[in-house]
Amino acid sequence: MSNTPVRVRFAPSPTGPLHMGGVRTALYNYLFAKKHNGTFLIRIEDTDQTRFVPGAQDYIMDALKWCGIMPTEGPGLGGDFGPYIQSERKEMYRPYADELIKNEKAYYAFDSSEDLSQMREQALKMGMPNWQYNNVTRGSMQNSLSLPADEVQRRLDNGDPYVIRMKMPRNVDVRFEDEIRGWVVVNTNNVDDKVLFKSDGMPTYHLANIVDDHLMKITHVIRGEEWLPSAPLHVMLYEAFGWDCPKFAHLPLLLKPDGNGKLSKRDGDRLGFPVFPTDWKSEDGEIYTGYREQGYFPEAFINMLAFLGWNPGTTQEIFSLDELVASFTLDRVAKAGAKFDPDKTKWFQQQYLRGAENALLAEKLNIVLDNKYSLDKLTVVCGLMKERATFIEDIWTEGSFLLERPIEFDEQTVNKKWKDESEALMAEWSTVLSSIDSFVAENIESTFKTFLAEKELGIGAVLPLFRLLLTGKGMGPSMFEISEFLGKDECIARISIGITSLQKV
Ligand code: GLU
Repeated sequence: MSNTPVRVRFAPSPTGPLHMGGVRTALYNYLFAKKHNGTFLIRIEDTDQTRFVPGAQDYIMDALKWCGIMPTEGPGLGGDFGPYIQSERKEMYRPYADELIKNEKAYYAFDSSEDLSQMREQALKMGMPNWQYNNVTRGSMQNSLSLPADEVQRRLDNGDPYVIRMKMPRNVDVRFEDEIRGWVVVNTNNVDDKVLFKSDGMPTYHLANIVDDHLMKITHVIRGEEWLPSAPLHVMLYEAFGWDCPKFAHLPLLLKPDGNGKLSKRDGDRLGFPVFPTDWKSEDGEIYTGYREQGYFPEAFINMLAFLGWNPGTTQEIFSLDELVASFTLDRVAKAGAKFDPDKTKWFQQQYLRGAENALLAEKLNIVLDNKYSLDKLTVVCGLMKERATFIEDIWTEGSFLLERPIEFDEQTVNKKWKDESEALMAEWSTVLSSIDSFVAENIESTFKTFLAEKELGIGAVLPLFRLLLTGKGMGPSMFEISEFLGKDECIARISIGITSLQKV
């Protein structure tokens, strides 16, 4: 195996938008491929045409692009193993189903869906709620194992509808070593005779998945835990074809923040955080919010996702994609479900915003503000405000005063701090300010300290008033830096306008 080039795939079904659990599966595949200089491909598994949702495939590709984890082979991307959409490979699967029939690993089953529901109902009445088509019950069903050969032939010649089912042997232990879970052993008595090929001429997920993983030379199958129960069947299919089995790694579930059950599509809007990478508009017009539209940076989203089920074994939490590639190993992926933490998700975003270059943030803010201000000014605004923001928009909500005079004054601060003598005090401070020659933060600060000393006042008696008049707020970044940015004339003007406004209150 060591000389075989690593090839992994992300194999979503286009049945709707990609849930963040799906993005995590794609991410771990991406990281694993890059780490081993291998290939990460995407295959669209659309054999279940009844669940096909228009727009889902484009959504998936767009979401992966936004996350920066694009595969290098796939629909529209090229690659030597295409087509990468299963419905476009339809004709390729039938010979494999025939081969299984020939080798007596599979059989024709003619039972109609009415027959099957009847069996289920009967079983239910007899106190068996989980009736299965399996190595015990198949003897009393209509299939090529129970019917005489000439009857089977007659039905086939007649064009009677049928499916092809896997013939599970009795009482065989199927074992495989999962890269995350270790040895998994399942007895075939607990596995039903899954349909491999449907009456509509399409393979089911199981057959198509195995055939494609083989033809696409997949070395590692990294996918969600929900596929673990299907793995024994898949292992048996590889054996039935005489093919090498890829390695399996089943990723832990993503759990709701309280740990009670799987994180579902509906949880997002119910609990107030997105579960989708980007906005999704359902067919009935409902919008499911995405991280992108909520203002998250893709780097923060990816960093957060990487930690849902994996950890580096150190205390480092902020990882660029390249660092994740370097550190990622499957043996550090947990077996237990990973609890999603909305607060931690915000924390990651905050860290990325704080760590970003001011000029870069300014470019993003500029888009939000429709190019209304110069980039130079916005760069300073971002530098002053980013410590207090989580999203780009917060920089403006909290810091618009830097470019626009305040029209409102924080009520709480006014009530608490604006006293009868405040007007005179601020007027005096304004005069002192106007005497500063070089109007830079350092000088403003030392002048302020001298002013406090002369007036025998504490900082709390003056600074909040100064802040109130200049910014309209009760809190914010350094007043000396703000003052330098605004410039002497603007500071003096704001003090005077502020005083007038507060007189009216
Ligand atoms: N099509 C399956 C899904 O939608 C893929 C499972 C697998 O990776 O084998 O999740």
